Amino acid sequence: MKRIGVLTSGGDAPGMNAAVRAVARSAMSAGLEVVAIRKGYSGLLNNNMFLMEPKSVSDILHRGGTFLQTARCLEFKEEAGVLKGVENAKKMGIEGLVVIGGDGSFRGARDLSLHGIPTIGVPATIDNDISCTEYCIGYDTALDTAKDAIDRIRDTCRSHERCSIIEVMGHGAGYIAATIAVACGAEAAIVPEREYDLNEIIENIKKGKKNGKEFNLIVVSEGICDVIAMAKKIEDETGIETRATILGHIQRGGSPTVRDRVTATRMGIHAVELLKKGIGNRVVAVKRDEIVDYDILEGLNMKKDFDDEFVRVAKMLSM
Ligand code: ADP
Repeated sequence: MKRIGVLTSGGDAPGMNAAVRAVARSAMSAGLEVVAIRKGYSGLLNNNMFLMEPKSVSDILHRGGTFLQTARCLEFKEEAGVLKGVENAKKMGIEGLVVIGGDGSFRGARDLSLHGIPTIGVPATIDNDISCTEYCIGYDTALDTAKDAIDRIRDTCRSHERCSIIEVMGHGAGYIAATIAVACGAEAAIVPEREYDLNEIIENIKKGKKNGKEFNLIVVSEGICDVIAMAKKIEDETGIETRATILGHIQRGGSPTVRDRVTATRMGIHAVELLKKGIGNRVVAVKRDEIVDYDILEGLNMKKDFDDEFVRVAKMLSM
């Protein structure tokens, strides 16, 4: 293999730049040329690509987002789109590809592999919801950002003796909500994987008020309920002023943490190692802190159990 490509696809995550840098520099160290593809699979379809130099990835390691930009490309979900992508990749001399993204992006990576372009998926999403890996690039930074925001909410919440409902991201998974509830000392974590009882939460808030508790924090994973309506109900039933804050996209940005930079670097290097051996159709993953890889379809079919330890811990420690 003489020339490989790299792209970022799907939702962005802090640490994607560190992964691109590791792919580019480790490939160049091994004598490979690297083509950067902009805006996910659309760049492959529109020939929006450029040949990288070592300095193309200078000064990006610590930046959030993805300097290659990302996109959702519907055309690539069709067979004709994949064939056009293969043709363009071949014209550009790309013999292998690294795709940094989520499950959807890995389906595209599998299609490319099956059509003769060995492609490796690298998992990046703040939601940590990719089943085949214990860790996804971006998760730690998103947790840190949510932690900073909730600590600030806690300050004002305490001053005013309020209750705060904080909606965090998660994309149908409760990893961020459960972990951040423990890290920020929330009274409850409401996650999609487990039933919740709002009346029980309200009773606990009332009990806390009687015992002199000055404020309450409740963390809710996105998409479960209308947090503004929930805040109103809690306020009506407890008589405690209650506010809802939706953290939203703030959690997707920012300079990646050490864990995200290092994991992204290890994964990027691993992806290039596979391509150097001519191996494609694999997804890189973390297993017990080791970097491993799986067949993409096998990886897509894996199930990751939600451990509700943190949901229970948040509840147990709220007094
Ligand atoms: P993520 O990779 O974060 O899961 P998406 O599901 O939006 O994000 O997928 C990103 C891109 O991957 C899509 O816009 C599309 O170009 C490509 N993709 C998604 N699903 C498929 C599929 N079934 N076949 C081929 N390509 C796909």
